[in-house]
Amino acid sequence: MTPRKVAIKKKAPTEENLFRIPRGMHDILPADQVWWERIDKTARELADFYNFQRIETPILEQVSLFERTVGGDTDIVQKEMYTLKTKGGDFLALRPEGTAPVMRAYLDHGLGSLGQPQKFFYQGPFFRHENPQAGRFRQFYQIGFEIIGGVNDPIYDAQVILIFDRLLKGLKIKNTILKVNSIGCKICRPNYKRQLANYYKRYEKDLCNNCLRRLKVNPLRLLDCKNQNCQPFKEKAPNLFDKICTSCGRHLRAVLEYLDELEIVYELDNTLVRGLDYYSQTVFEFYATDSNIGALPGGGRYDYLAEFLGSKATAAVGGATGVERLIEVMKTQEVKWPSRTPRKVFLVHVGDLAKKKSLKIVEELRSAGIPVGEALGKESVKAQLKQADKQGSVLAIIFGQKEIFEESVIIRDLRTGLQESVILSKMVFEIQKRLKERPVENK
Ligand code: AMP
Repeated sequence: MTPRKVAIKKKAPTEENLFRIPRGMHDILPADQVWWERIDKTARELADFYNFQRIETPILEQVSLFERTVGGDTDIVQKEMYTLKTKGGDFLALRPEGTAPVMRAYLDHGLGSLGQPQKFFYQGPFFRHENPQAGRFRQFYQIGFEIIGGVNDPIYDAQVILIFDRLLKGLKIKNTILKVNSIGCKICRPNYKRQLANYYKRYEKDLCNNCLRRLKVNPLRLLDCKNQNCQPFKEKAPNLFDKICTSCGRHLRAVLEYLDELEIVYELDNTLVRGLDYYSQTVFEFYATDSNIGALPGGGRYDYLAEFLGSKATAAVGGATGVERLIEVMKTQEVKWPSRTPRKVFLVHVGDLAKKKSLKIVEELRSAGIPVGEALGKESVKAQLKQADKQGSVLAIIFGQKEIFEESVIIRDLRTGLQESVILSKMVFEIQKRLKERPVENK
């Protein structure tokens, strides 16, 4: 199925918006890097600890990969993909999600012949042409964990949920709830879908347009509707829990027992269905109760995805979280991180000649492993010292005409104001000694 042609409202570029960032995209400014670095570090450490190996797939994939897997009638495929035709005639999409590309890579590279299951970790930018709003961007970052291959064992569902639970805890995000559901399998789901469709048909004239479309193309997604007017129908809809087959019921129970064992609190939510076609059995989503930004990590089992790609059925389970949403919640909850390691040593130059020689001194300190701050563009000593103070430095290395002549530097302790002249060849030793003498708490 090809993506539906969406009517494009062409806006005439004005001088004002010509050089603006595209709608729904965002810059990540230096002040925010501390959040990104913390998330990156926490995710990498978890991946390493739980044995998930990093995988990177291209930003561009064949459009057909997502049509086949995510589902031809999903919003992602119908409306949200950024697609392009190359000069060579390929029809490509900026990846809207990570699971299908990881499965494609698994199949392409014959990773099924290695020890199973294979556990993957990825992070990077994804693209969906959605309506931008809080927590919903057109370019957003995801961190994902996937377990592919081997047998369908509920312990892997629990393990994926566990790693996301630990990610949230590692990031000190509080007040989270985990919602879990089973959307059944090939055997029981069609039956449930039929019952659901029959139930909703009774209210056809009262449903929102989206639900009317869902009723025709994928009734399960009726349960996904957020429209206030459709909520009463959802509440009285046939209960999925009652309709899944014995095997899916057993599977769900086993996942929940593992979560109990891990003391991970969950809420069973029989209306949780998630938007993508490739899920079967377990689906899950984490939310922060004090934020209405939407789901944080979310995912589920997708044993049929490999089949959609023409391969044999392959057990698989995984999920992804939006990084911007994590940061938003961390900011709302005022999660505290130590700021970047302060540059404890700051180089202050006095005069042009000293400025010329200062880069060499910085290099000498760098090769001794001493991070050094500087404001080489500033000429006034006062302004440089002010900058040193702002950066939380404790020692200033002052270097001027006299020092060049004497091959020395002045080391000034910014906490006490005491200063001493030391010869250049002893500079590193004297700095290290002073840093050791009075360890200073990170500011
Ligand atoms: P999905 O790939 O739709 O299963 O989404 C997984 C997670 O990615 C969601 O639970 C969100 O945390 C995040 N996410 C999905 N779409 C967006 C978006 N447009 N902007 C920001 N985050 C998103």
